[in-house]
Amino acid sequence: MAAAAIAAGRAPEEVTLIAVSKQQQEEGIVAALRLGQRVYGENLVQEAMARWQPKREAFPDLRLHLIGPLQSNKALEAVRLFDVIESLDRPKLARVLADAVEKAGRTPKILVQVNTGEEPQKAGILPIEADAFLQDLPRIYGLAPAGLMCIPPQGENPAAHFALLTKIAARNGLTQLSMGMSEDFEVAIRFGANCVRVGSALFGPREAAQA
Ligand SMILES: *Cc1c(COP(=O)(O)O)cnc(C)c1O
Repeated sequence: MAAAAIAAGRAPEEVTLIAVSKQQQEEGIVAALRLGQRVYGENLVQEAMARWQPKREAFPDLRLHLIGPLQSNKALEAVRLFDVIESLDRPKLARVLADAVEKAGRTPKILVQVNTGEEPQKAGILPIEADAFLQDLPRIYGLAPAGLMCIPPQGENPAAHFALLTKIAARNGLTQLSMGMSEDFEVAIRFGANCVRVGSALFGPREAAQA
């Protein structure tokens, strides 16, 4: 990862590695913790709570990212557990998250997920709706998004999607870009990613297939 940053002409400290621990064996996670890795990504609130809640005390500098779609009824638990929620993607969830932030007295960093490939089965706000949504977040909901996240369509060249995300972020004055996974993190870093979400390249294949 550091090598990919340097190759892209960027400083390694500009790019955070999110180790995606979803559906990975405990021993791999323990090994990563022992090596000093502190930033982890999970896509399910319940699974993340079971795994990470018990470790919080021993590792107070853990940073947990929610990278999967968030259901409204899990918002409060998500706000209590996660340091970054990367998957805000609809007005209704913005309302629920704003209420949860108030109730929990805790404000995770928030990224807006953009469905750059406009895939019907995928979460994320559509690119054409992104600017208005981003303007509404502080104005209507009192939420200050720090940046954007995307998952390019499988089997497509991701570069166009990373470029689109970068463009939407720039015109909205946002600096945080979570993009790039095991297959394409080098490309994402070249396009300005600050966070790359890498699972299988670190830990090996997951236990069960999941979107
Ligand atoms: C599972 C997942 C990843 C990690 O995928 P790998 O291909 O294993 O690196 C990254 N981002 C999101 C949103 C995921 O759901």
